[in-house]
Amino acid sequence: MPKVLISADMEGISGVVHPVETNPDRYDYERGRALMTAEVNAVIAGVLDAEPSAEVLVANAHGPFRNLLPEDLDQRVRLVRGRPRPLGMLGGLGTGMDAVLFVGYHARVGAGPAVLAHTMSDAVLGVRLNGREVGEIGLNAALAGHYGAPVVLLSGDDVACAELRELVPGASTVAVKRALGQAAAEALHPAVARDRLRQEAAAAVARRAQIPPMSITGPVLLEVDLYAPATVDTAMLIPGVERAAGARTVTFTGHDVAEICDVVQLLVLLAQVKPG
Ligand SMILES: [Zn+2]
Repeated sequence: MPKVLISADMEGISGVVHPVETNPDRYDYERGRALMTAEVNAVIAGVLDAEPSAEVLVANAHGPFRNLLPEDLDQRVRLVRGRPRPLGMLGGLGTGMDAVLFVGYHARVGAGPAVLAHTMSDAVLGVRLNGREVGEIGLNAALAGHYGAPVVLLSGDDVACAELRELVPGASTVAVKRALGQAAAEALHPAVARDRLRQEAAAAVARRAQIPPMSITGPVLLEVDLYAPATVDTAMLIPGVERAAGARTVTFTGHDVAEICDVVQLLVLLAQVKPG
């Protein structure tokens, strides 16, 4: 019985272009949640069209990790909800996962123009793995690869799609909108996007064996540029984290990508802490 993980972010959902649709305290958040839930349901349907016996796990991976409407989600899956948690946006991943799908993902900080481009938090100005610029797409594709799972499909804007294809040649991508700026896009109708996603998800899962997992073998050098020098000061308290030249960059050498992703998650949490 194949095991499939769907990691669902929000900025790359069709119709979503602005923080008022993605932030819990803003006026259009409930609409964003409904669009996100419906789009994830379309992907679940596609996965199960291809593999009716698949065990499907959905990792809610935006903001507080509590945006998907549990009662409206397809009943055939289990939902990984809430944070902080092991493996962050890929909560529930482990060895033996046959395919991973990224839904509603977005481009990295500095890319673009791209809709709502950022990397984990506005407190992060850049992330590099072994010198290569990565965002959430690269970090999570590498984390999936560490556990032997290929990322077979990504949906988001056209820039996010290109970002995955560069890292995982052969992966399917569905551009549900064309970026016109950080908060502007030309988007498919959500219903059209869902039809296309259902088809593409089925096709991608069916040919998962042809898509190699992204592979970064350790040790891995992590560099993170942080907005606030005070966050750098706090980060220096983590064993192994060092300050690079300049006040805003920290480095960490990890044994593998899993360790690196834990440190990135911790740095993002530290960035939310006000110096006391
Ligand atoms: Zn997000």
